[in-house]
Amino acid sequence: MKEWNEECAVVGIYNAHNASVLSYYSLFSMQHRGQEASGISASNGQKISTYKNNGLVTKVFNKTILEKLQGKSSIGHNRYSTAGEDSINDSQPIFAKYGLGEIALAHNGNFTNAKEIRESLIQEGAIFQSHLDTENLIHLIAKSHRNHLVDRIKDALTKIRGAYALVFLSRTKMFVVRDQYGLRPLSLGKIKNPDGSTGYIVASESCAFDLIGADYIRDVLPGEMLVFEGAYTNNDVVPQSMQIFPPTPNPCIFEYVYFARPDSKVFGKNVYEIRKQMGVELAKEHKIQADMVIPVPDSGVAAALGYSRESGIPFELGIIRNHYVGRTFIEPTQSMRELKVKLKLNPIAELISGKDIIVIDDSIVRGTTSKQIIKILKQAGAKKIHLFISSPPTISPCFYGVDTPDKSDLICANHSLEEVRDFIGADSLFFLSLEGLKKSINSEENKRFCQACFDGHYIEELTGRKD
Ligand code: SF4
Repeated sequence: MKEWNEECAVVGIYNAHNASVLSYYSLFSMQHRGQEASGISASNGQKISTYKNNGLVTKVFNKTILEKLQGKSSIGHNRYSTAGEDSINDSQPIFAKYGLGEIALAHNGNFTNAKEIRESLIQEGAIFQSHLDTENLIHLIAKSHRNHLVDRIKDALTKIRGAYALVFLSRTKMFVVRDQYGLRPLSLGKIKNPDGSTGYIVASESCAFDLIGADYIRDVLPGEMLVFEGAYTNNDVVPQSMQIFPPTPNPCIFEYVYFARPDSKVFGKNVYEIRKQMGVELAKEHKIQADMVIPVPDSGVAAALGYSRESGIPFELGIIRNHYVGRTFIEPTQSMRELKVKLKLNPIAELISGKDIIVIDDSIVRGTTSKQIIKILKQAGAKKIHLFISSPPTISPCFYGVDTPDKSDLICANHSLEEVRDFIGADSLFFLSLEGLKKSINSEENKRFCQACFDGHYIEELTGRKD
């Protein structure tokens, strides 16, 4: 259940007709990663045009606006405020004019040394327009003395520490970079244009490819830069790959637990299959008797199916979700969060009354949402409620681009399992082990993951820890 907020989506389209329209649909498919603001920059080879505003993708853009974003290349961004504030200045893409021309930039992630860099840039006379850590990068690029943008980007990134999936747009080229740890996801796909030529897309999640009919090629590799050029010279576009930092992959394991859409391929693997397997592992680790298995919709559905299949306990949709509740109009205060649960979820009393039920969700963060769910299920007459969580207890905040509460607000960081069970009001409470989670992923390519929110072990080279 949503207590841990997503971390932005980025998209880049190169050498495609109506690139901004394709960016729009891609951002629409990745709306779950950020609902505060949305923006698109497009280039027609002569100049870059940008439009961004607060709100959902469908609210921000319309036909007239998209018609003004002309060109064969574009980048886009959905924002969830991980760094910066809620003004339009703090939405992305960021656009700037600098010594070599025009540039637009969209970023998913978090620069952990952003404060030091900003302070030193201000000392040198830089003026900032936003609160975004991403704006540092524009200044570092503008300050670099290298003659080509590609070298300036590389120069600037040597000074940055943190998590990033970046897409840059110049008037004629597009540049894409993923940090050396590969913390944030970024995939590459191919677009077949109506005239038979090939275009390219990069996006945080491959669900964006499906919507616009693009084919998944591969992930952008940790530490890799891709350079796209040729769209405005009628040359064939073949992405040029450079390994600009030595790869030390530690992709974010929480993408599989909650962030990504189940129909996406993330870090090369389908998310739905992994979530279902988490339920299977949960059933292997914790066996109990009950009348039915119920998911918290939508976050617990795949794991509940896996649990039901492995345990033989029937799966039922005992809680119905109202899909038409907006995600941004309610301020995330404590009391409103409780109201939000009631607005969204309604149990089927006729189904669960008098029954022992296993309820499956993906995670517990503050515990307030779980408490509310248990409360409405009890009110609907459930006899016993066993809450099963398809991930380990979240005990540490994220500093790599995910909006998480402080450690003091993470219930599992500050209370024993028994105290948490008592607080949420369940009859029993079980978590999937970290080993069980990794077994569910069973990845040959990624042997190591960032799992700091579960074990508190952060990547040492990245500074900026708050705990
Ligand atoms: S701390 Fe957690 S949410 Fe953040 S990158 Fe690591 S695994 Fe992902």
